[in-house]
Amino acid sequence: QQKQVQSEKLYDTQCPYCSMQCKMQFVEQTIVTRKKYMTIGKDNPTSQGRLCIKGMNAHQHALHHERIKYPLLKVNGEFTRISWEEALNHIKENFTKIQSEDGMNALSVYGSASITNEEAYLLGKFARVALKTKYIDYNGRLCMSAAASAASQTFGMDRGLTNSLSEIPSVQCIILAGTNIAECQPTIMPYFEKAKENGAFIIAIDPRETATTKIADLHLKVKPGKDAALANGLLKVIIDENYVDETFVQERAKGFTEVKEHVSSFTLEEISEWTGVPVADIRKAATMFGKKETGMIFTARGVEQQTDGSIAVRNFLNILIATGKLGKWGCGYGAITGQSNGQGAREHGQKADQLPGYRSIENEEHRAYIASVWGIDQDEIPRKGVSAYEMMEKIHDGEITGMFLMCSNPIVSNPNANFVKKALNKLKFLVVVDMFISETARLADLILPTSSYLEDEGTMTNVEGRVTLREASWPTPGEVKHDWQIICEIARVLGKGEYFSFSSAEEVFNELRVASRGGIADYYGITYERLRKEGGLLWPCPTLNHKGTDRLFEQSFAHSDGLASMVTVPNRPEVPKEQLSEEFPLYLTTGRVMSHYLTGVQTRKSSSLSARNFESYMEIHPNTARKYDIQDQSLVKIESKQGSIIVRSKWSETIRPDTVFVPFHWADSQNVNCLVSEKLDPTCRMPGFKVSAVKIAPVV
Ligand code: SF4
Repeated sequence: QQKQVQSEKLYDTQCPYCSMQCKMQFVEQTIVTRKKYMTIGKDNPTSQGRLCIKGMNAHQHALHHERIKYPLLKVNGEFTRISWEEALNHIKENFTKIQSEDGMNALSVYGSASITNEEAYLLGKFARVALKTKYIDYNGRLCMSAAASAASQTFGMDRGLTNSLSEIPSVQCIILAGTNIAECQPTIMPYFEKAKENGAFIIAIDPRETATTKIADLHLKVKPGKDAALANGLLKVIIDENYVDETFVQERAKGFTEVKEHVSSFTLEEISEWTGVPVADIRKAATMFGKKETGMIFTARGVEQQTDGSIAVRNFLNILIATGKLGKWGCGYGAITGQSNGQGAREHGQKADQLPGYRSIENEEHRAYIASVWGIDQDEIPRKGVSAYEMMEKIHDGEITGMFLMCSNPIVSNPNANFVKKALNKLKFLVVVDMFISETARLADLILPTSSYLEDEGTMTNVEGRVTLREASWPTPGEVKHDWQIICEIARVLGKGEYFSFSSAEEVFNELRVASRGGIADYYGITYERLRKEGGLLWPCPTLNHKGTDRLFEQSFAHSDGLASMVTVPNRPEVPKEQLSEEFPLYLTTGRVMSHYLTGVQTRKSSSLSARNFESYMEIHPNTARKYDIQDQSLVKIESKQGSIIVRSKWSETIRPDTVFVPFHWADSQNVNCLVSEKLDPTCRMPGFKVSAVKIAPVV
């Protein structure tokens, strides 16, 4: 076959899926009269040339014939092709009408953590400067908000990993809490496998056995939603058995005395009873972590997507502080980001409470600085809005009547998904920017076609906090435009073109650099030229000569007093979680499979990926299945207070008998988020995706 290849072109790009942001090359071969396409890995400091099955097939959705190529207007229930000029006029007319009839805040913006840094920055500016609305938030709220809030409160700074990935192979003890990296970020696994080869003791915390827990020396099969209490158990052993780094807690932290007093108020037996983890296992995990010289803790959605997610993460950070395992080689914290730009997208101002550079929208100094960069008065910047799901409530209340939604699929990804669908249906005008007619785009009045990862140049910030440049390597199909171009064009027709006169992604990035200067996430020293020459750079990178920051907190933490902040964490959360009852006797937890990404809008278009997992399923212990008369591979109805779905059963000895698991990549009658309640974490407004109470029955 190779002999028949007449020509071959290679295009540098970056995987559009998870936060590893693996560098890769898109290959176009000409064979006789036929074109053949494939994707191969490219060496780089993070993924080191590796790719997983998603990356290898990423081009399949980008080249898919169902890509939207022209603006589409809904006329009598059908989408009809229109020109960009007509599309922009519709937007101008409808946005102006909505704001004059219902007020400036009647328009809302819903963003994404899969767009570039430039586009995340521009979307935040667009909401505040062009639309003058306070209502903007994004899908990262459902993904990273708990870890971000915990790290900000504990350290004064939120960067995914406090240390670069290169340190992992030499760490002596690792806790993987609620993270299934083997399925979700597969190319990160060799770092942990290397650590194990080097003698590391690995502890996994997860209600299920997964490909990730298989590498663990100790698996704590916690009851869903009890992670905060389990961390209390670990902390208790560490304090009671004297594994505390006294110098560290005295000199570099505050709050240790209160935490010490708190852990004396309960017994390990009580923790064991509440979490379902044997006392001996809690003791062993804590002892191993306490006595090793180096140690890192990683959390992900299993701990974070809870109504006490932020405080649960803080309790794992308490363990790091108590043992002094921060700010030095092989000691630190990692929040394993899910989405491709989960890190960068939360730094540049598309969160309800945030301005670029991780600045606060309620801080007068921060507002003044950003206003000076944008060339407006600081009083013109709207105040804090509400979180992603709460915007849906505002639609039901009639306060929000229009929405501009970019690269997101909230009717599948939000909790209480049926409620969210009803909300979007109520809008007077919904504009959706996407590559495909997603489940959410079906509800739109107007769809604008956007470019894929192959076509859109820009920077992404990976799981480590490393900023990388993704080159555009392929022409856009039809009349497709990039997200940043779409934002600029709408701003122009709304009369705000002077603030959005960018002619390239690089020009947007140069403004972002200035906006981030002096902030927590300082990108000022990073330029496209440096990224092309030096590869990725870890922020903060405040000057053009700065080499980036591989390890955080070596001398001090980012709070003004330089100290890390410990906090006491209750075993039972402030917002009660879903409780099992006679009517709803099983826990439901959710997660990912390797072959799909988020709500599957892109990966379900890939024939190679869909062939691996073409439908959703419910993992259930055989003993539980027998109790409810559910055969392996049979259809089962799962019902919660919020709704019901039908999926196929999959027997598995490796899941807790009181728990079932369903992945969240499918829509409509298989959308598991229809079952998740609307309760939110009081601090970061994260929904409780990981714990629902359900009943199950065979479909006859
Ligand atoms: Fe790499 Fe993640 Fe893409 Fe897989 S999905 S190739 S791990 S970036």
